[in-house]
Amino acid sequence: MTLKYIGCDLGGTNLRAGIVDPQSGQVSHPHTTLTMAREGHDAVMARMGALIEQTIEASGLSKDEIGGIGIGAPGVLDLERGLTLMLPNLPGTWPEIPLRDTISEYTGLPTTLLNDVRSITFGEWRFGAGQGVDTMACFAVGTGIGGGLVINGQLHLGIGGTGGELGHQMIDFNGPPCGCGNRGCLEAYASGPAIAAMGMKAVVQGCTTIIGELVDFDLNKITPKTIAQAASQGDEVAQNILEEAGFYIGIAAANVCASIGPRKIVIAGGVSKIGEPLLEPIRRTIRERVRVMPVEQVEVIQAQLGDDAGVIGVALWAADYFN
Ligand SMILES: [Zn+2]
Repeated sequence: MTLKYIGCDLGGTNLRAGIVDPQSGQVSHPHTTLTMAREGHDAVMARMGALIEQTIEASGLSKDEIGGIGIGAPGVLDLERGLTLMLPNLPGTWPEIPLRDTISEYTGLPTTLLNDVRSITFGEWRFGAGQGVDTMACFAVGTGIGGGLVINGQLHLGIGGTGGELGHQMIDFNGPPCGCGNRGCLEAYASGPAIAAMGMKAVVQGCTTIIGELVDFDLNKITPKTIAQAASQGDEVAQNILEEAGFYIGIAAANVCASIGPRKIVIAGGVSKIGEPLLEPIRRTIRERVRVMPVEQVEVIQAQLGDDAGVIGVALWAADYFN
């Protein structure tokens, strides 16, 4: 009998859980509930424990058919001690919260933690866009920009699992402030909100663009999807915004090429759904700006596992960890 593993993703808006078969990477019995992060970490952890119990119950599995739980969390963790150290997008930021042991005690199952984008990276490597290579990088572009690295056939962890924050590479050391406290990080230039802000600015400055019309001039409704829609209709301002965002990600990706020599760079996260109009300038930029390794061999591709990538990846991580 092959044991199944539970993947659970702690998001700012939703908690997601599912049962994952570690041999196929298939997820079943997906369950979702609202995080309601404002209620604080104790309430959120209780809700997470209950969601996992519901997921197990719906699957009809007994607990001895489950090898363990992996939890993906959006921020800085201490994997050795099983703590969250800083979850910047959750109220209270969860300093030194014993997430691993709390869920393990609640469910009676062995539990391990991993950063949410390292989870996506691991899932995409094993069963998604990153299959078949021993070295790859993943950028997850959404509300922020997360990252992860696989080097020489292993997910790269670094100190306490903190290695791989590709969105916090400085691409201009004098640049604008980033949510992490530093300045000039990639995230400040090319995250979903940064792309939307470029669209707002263009409309406010009176540029010739249909971006404003697409949201009935309610500029707070501009999203990266709006920009992509305008670009696909031939709007040059919108096309230039995607070019610019792709250029910035490409600069960071060029640094990664020089650092680790990846065979694949996987672009994940909500903003990656834009596809080619974002991927093309990333490819062009790395080809122009990397001289010291065979950059023509680096594939830049869209992620494949969609919204389940984190749940799948962290369950696979747990399967490796508890074996
Ligand atoms: Zn930063």
